[in-house]
Amino acid sequence: MPVGPDRWELETHRWRQLRRAIVASARGLCGLCGHGPGADTVDHAIPPSRGGARFDPANLIAAHGKHPCPTCGRKCNSEKGSMTITEWRVFLATASALACSAASRSRGRPATQ
Ligand SMILES: [Zn+2]
Ligand SMILES: [Zn+2]
Repeated sequence: MPVGPDRWELETHRWRQLRRAIVASARGLCGLCGHGPGADTVDHAIPPSRGGARFDPANLIAAHGKHPCPTCGRKCNSEKGSMTITEWRVFLATASALACSAASRSRGRPATQ
């Protein structure tokens, strides 16, 4: 299938409009880490490379990307990469469980009884 510059221009334009609409309707709240504000990119719940629809609003999530999340510091969009939203949630849960146990280990036991 030939993909000429015309088609690319068209898709880019369509994507820009869609992205703006998704970010605006999320009001800066990131659908990946759940924090706001600052979500400035749009990610696919199921990446097109994994069979997800590229231009379906139901498959699109506002996400931190250009700038990291002010709350958790993640660049959610680029960290998620080609994970599906389900894989990402498992990844986040695992990462925060590890961070919690590491934090409680380094804190040690409370000094008071
Ligand atoms: Zn985020
Ligand atoms: Zn966050």
